[in-house]
Amino acid sequence: MERFLNGGIVPHVIAGERVLSVTGATFETLDPTTNRHQCTVASGGAAEIDHAARAAEAAFKVWRDVPGAARRKILHAIADAIEARAEEIAFVECCDTGQPIRYMAKAALRGAENFRFYADRASEAGNGLSLPDTDHINYTIRQPIGAVGVITPWNTPFMLSTWKIAPALAAGCTVVHKPAEWSPLSAVILIEIMDEVIRAHGLPAGVVNLVHGLGEEAGKALTEHPAIRAIAFVGETTTGSHIMAQGAKTLKRVHFELGGKNPVIVFDDADLDRALDAVLFMIYSLNGERCTSSSRALVQRSIHDAFSEKVAERVRRIKVGHPLDPATEIGPLIHPRHAEKVLSYPALAREGGARVACGGGRAMGGAGNYVEPTLYVDAATGMRIAQEEIFGPVLTMIPFEDEADAVRVANDVRYGLAGYLWTRDIGRAHRVARDLEAGMIWVNSENVRHLPTPFGGIKNSGVGRDGGDYSFDFYMETKNIAVAYDSHKVPRLGIGS
Ligand code: NAD
Repeated sequence: MERFLNGGIVPHVIAGERVLSVTGATFETLDPTTNRHQCTVASGGAAEIDHAARAAEAAFKVWRDVPGAARRKILHAIADAIEARAEEIAFVECCDTGQPIRYMAKAALRGAENFRFYADRASEAGNGLSLPDTDHINYTIRQPIGAVGVITPWNTPFMLSTWKIAPALAAGCTVVHKPAEWSPLSAVILIEIMDEVIRAHGLPAGVVNLVHGLGEEAGKALTEHPAIRAIAFVGETTTGSHIMAQGAKTLKRVHFELGGKNPVIVFDDADLDRALDAVLFMIYSLNGERCTSSSRALVQRSIHDAFSEKVAERVRRIKVGHPLDPATEIGPLIHPRHAEKVLSYPALAREGGARVACGGGRAMGGAGNYVEPTLYVDAATGMRIAQEEIFGPVLTMIPFEDEADAVRVANDVRYGLAGYLWTRDIGRAHRVARDLEAGMIWVNSENVRHLPTPFGGIKNSGVGRDGGDYSFDFYMETKNIAVAYDSHKVPRLGIGS
């Protein structure tokens, strides 16, 4: 961290070179515990994106032909290096984002696991299918699409960047990464690791490139660049629609992981002790700054009051503190603008007719961006607290009557990322899972990720899926090759003879 604080301007890394912006532009990041200046970062624009995109395009001609077995070795070496620097990565992420060290340490190691997982699949990435017919044998091969742009958000930035970049490299694509301007530092460590390992294997700089900058400048330029063949984006829903419009001119292939307002449904026959833990964990861990957080708890009316009392008791005991303190359960939110947004909702909750059962104000004596864990009860589905992604440690509880009512309320939002449900009735579990409008459902479980499974949302929560082979579908083109068994037997389609 010292080197970021005292090392001058944090540069871009393009074709292996550390460079500043041609215009000299910079932006600053803030320490979320105090909102004092933390770092000065080079702010890229069209010139830096062009430089990086051309470098990635040139490196693609070499990287695409590196055999899968060699790519496997390289990706494992990147994972080794991440593990060796996991403490440093976790530390930097806490300083940048305010998310507690107890979660960030695991997030860094999950980044290594993302590389290991795709390392082991690099040899199979190009596999296709063979289809014989009477005249031909048809076979398909998959080939990497080219240089791609990866645009990431500020929450768990290291883990999310690796989740996008590892499959791109395994597939044979080269990358220009534009991290979020509120949390750019772990991306610097990631590019150092990747660049060093790739070049140590005699491969060109430019396989991976890092351009810092604002969304509407560097991000926009990346989505519009003709040499960039696809954009993998994680962020807000409105940004996703901007990117779709920006990429339209160059017919950019896009993959979006967007916002959510995910329901956790608790039926009265559930294992309520276990459900209580899950409801709390899935909204109050990681500061509630998590796309899959269960920000709406839909609880059957017969148990609603007793269950919400228990939730409130536990929320009052959550420890808010410095992100580097291992005892801390909730750290400061990332940025003063984000804290202001989260703190605007208690008034909206009261206006709408809900009750603020816990929290709703600033914590830690008003320092930095600390907010109290907050619980809204007696809410109804039409209220803004039940419709909008607040993205903080804030839970909205809504009672429901029966199965049909639970499904109706759960689906009554524009998002469709994840859903959680707690019941001991196996038939109901399958019915509700089928009827929930979401890309991922967990039954009697929190969001435990199994990397080969598809990850992504429907409605306004996303376009496309990540995970296992799904990521390769995005980063690769499929080509069919038809070979005649005997050219004389193939019907003639002559012209001009
Ligand atoms: P954001 O959309 O504001 O920013 C994300 C990234 O997009 C940043 O790097 C930003 O600089 C860039 N950007 C902004 N405008 C752009 C433009 N016009 N063109 C190109 N790039 C642009 O999101 P955020 O506030 O950083 O992240 C929080 C959001 O991310 C939440 O909505 C959360 O739900 C979502 N998220 C979703 C998932 C998922 O898997 N579905 C995972 C994590 C976060």
